[in-house]
Amino acid sequence: MSRAHNFNAGPAALPTEVLESAQTETVDFNNTGMSVMELSHRSPDYETVHNQAIASIKSLLDVPDDYEVLLLQGGASLQFPMIPMNFLPQGQTANYILTGSWSEKALKEAKLLGQTRSSASAEESNYTYIPNTSQLGLSEEDAYVHITSNNTIFGTQWQNFDLDWKSPLIADMSSDILSKPIPVERFSMIYAGAQKNLGPSGVTVVIIKKDLLNQSAESVPTLMRYDTHADKNSLYHTPPTFAIYMLNKVLNWIEQNGGAEGMRQRNTEKAELLYNVIDESNGFYQGHAQEESRSYMNVTFNLPSEDLNKKFLQEAKEAGFVGLNGHRSVGGCRASIYNAVSLESCQALKEFMIEFQNNNE
Ligand SMILES: *Cc1c(COP(=O)(O)O)cnc(C)c1O
Repeated sequence: MSRAHNFNAGPAALPTEVLESAQTETVDFNNTGMSVMELSHRSPDYETVHNQAIASIKSLLDVPDDYEVLLLQGGASLQFPMIPMNFLPQGQTANYILTGSWSEKALKEAKLLGQTRSSASAEESNYTYIPNTSQLGLSEEDAYVHITSNNTIFGTQWQNFDLDWKSPLIADMSSDILSKPIPVERFSMIYAGAQKNLGPSGVTVVIIKKDLLNQSAESVPTLMRYDTHADKNSLYHTPPTFAIYMLNKVLNWIEQNGGAEGMRQRNTEKAELLYNVIDESNGFYQGHAQEESRSYMNVTFNLPSEDLNKKFLQEAKEAGFVGLNGHRSVGGCRASIYNAVSLESCQALKEFMIEFQNNNE
């Protein structure tokens, strides 16, 4: 068996052990004589998986008792309209801090549904940094403030959340959830599509403070309401059972590998390998992100010319590295090094980058 050095931005690498474990259970899960995909979502065998996944998220992230964990469909992108539908009443304003394309997309949906503002934006730099605390312009008047904790496309990341946010804080953590411990109590809501750090596509994790659940207007359609899903333990309608089963396995794997703190150490080590190559390349590799805003999940960089970018990507592909093309809005290269990407893959990429520089400088 050979596994690729997978640097895909999402869907992304999954732990080999998780895939192998799923493989052994594919036609007979838990002595049911059925695949987990064939079970009723009302069966005890499935419900155990479902409840274990929710319990693991709570314990891995130290989620306080006054929060619910929901497992929804529609990806992080469906959260973009759901949030204003539920939490942006007429006459109020929601504040979207702009740090990349995903924040822009979240804002675009909110604009369709209500009044918004953006008190801080890094757009003028093509999103090379996270605005610092003094630039945020927060206000108690805002219905909520929305941030993107890790900017998958540009490779920047909020380094901490230790400030007075003044209004309920809602974060899109699709590309860094469970990559490190986070102070959940600072947030009113956290959401994340699973396909970067937590599993396959098809399930979206929402961590929401219970006091938000009864705030939705009567007119919000049933399936678009958070309280519908909270009241039914995310079993109001058929959940994406296979995706949740895989999510549960990945959460188990995170538990076995030191939990959120274990992931932080693992991810720091990986990211530092690659950033060190960039920093020691005498400008051959240029990071897109400003140093103090660097992402430990998506390492974005450019070579000295478009031709060298192309050559690098071509030779990397031939050498067995997958998914290193930068997003079309930034160009250049991007190594996505989510939880499941191994230190060995990052070590191999580091060596490849050094050799490529030696051969092409
Ligand atoms: C990938 C990504 C999304 C989009 O997620 P979908 O599940 O495809 O809707 C949203 N936000 C961020 C930060 C992402 O990285």
